[in-house]
Amino acid sequence: MTRGLGDAWLSAAAAALLATAPATTAHAQEYPSKPVVIVVPAAAGGPTDTLARNLGVAMGSALGQQMIIDNSGGAGGIIGINKAAKSRPDGYTVLLYHIGMSTAPALYRKLPYDTVNDFEYIGQVADVPMTLVAKKEMSPNSFGEFLAYAKANQSTLTYANAGIGSASYLCGLLFMSTIQADFTTVPYKGTGPAMTDLVGGRVDFMCDQTTNTTPQIKAGTIKVYGVTSKMRVPSLPDVPTLEEEGLKGFALVVWNGLFAPRGTPKAALDRLIGALQTAVTDTAFKTRLADLGAEPVAPGKATPESLRILLKSEIDKWGPIIRKTGVYAD
Ligand code: ASP
Repeated sequence: MTRGLGDAWLSAAAAALLATAPATTAHAQEYPSKPVVIVVPAAAGGPTDTLARNLGVAMGSALGQQMIIDNSGGAGGIIGINKAAKSRPDGYTVLLYHIGMSTAPALYRKLPYDTVNDFEYIGQVADVPMTLVAKKEMSPNSFGEFLAYAKANQSTLTYANAGIGSASYLCGLLFMSTIQADFTTVPYKGTGPAMTDLVGGRVDFMCDQTTNTTPQIKAGTIKVYGVTSKMRVPSLPDVPTLEEEGLKGFALVVWNGLFAPRGTPKAALDRLIGALQTAVTDTAFKTRLADLGAEPVAPGKATPESLRILLKSEIDKWGPIIRKTGVYAD
């Protein structure tokens, strides 16, 4: 009797399990079933890391999954970009990077990845202006004074950046060629650690994104001489543009895009594109970026096609400008 009841219970339980099994399996396979890694080709604490962490929160809630950051800095971003390009294309690795994707092909004789063809495009993310900043002990108090001082002291002044291929490197390169000066560059794995040294007075100046410099400018731990955008940055209203300061035509805003390794399944890409679309209109994300002088792109730009067109046009734009400077890395 007991045995019979037990059998009946067992078979009922087995039937129930069987009935739910297909649904459970389908649910487990639904993308994303585990955290998605955002490769940041720079050290923690810098501008790309800050953007990635904020983006990860906004996209993660749209995806219903956590997004976690993998900081793979070094070689101006090349190490992290290459790591992302070679990652398993299963939707669980994406790459957040910027203007450096388009300058590296001209700056390096050889890259370990194919910039245009090794990635799937998800969309543009945000635009970030840059600022010319210096250690607070730097004596000049205005851009004009700094310019004269920098030209007179170029053999001793040190300028920090995140390595050849980074936005801070590009800004420095343009600055040096515009004012016809040459400074000793000090490369870091990202401008997060570079900022630590700038605040500590161990390097003299740098040109870095507002997402990294704004908190320090506001805290008065560094000096600021200008912003690189055409218009002043609303969160730094007292800081003039470099163009206003007399550097005619000097405008540089860092675009950022989200990529995935080539071969990432369409279903995963569609979810990621949808989550990016949601993120760029997310109020908390917009507010956080605005506080840091940056702005998410309009949803129309947070698309694969828009990023593909931008990357191609930026490669075409920067190639000749960089080649004119005669700088190459191996
Ligand atoms: N992306 C770099 C970082 O986050 C900075 C740069 O490109 O200059 O540290």
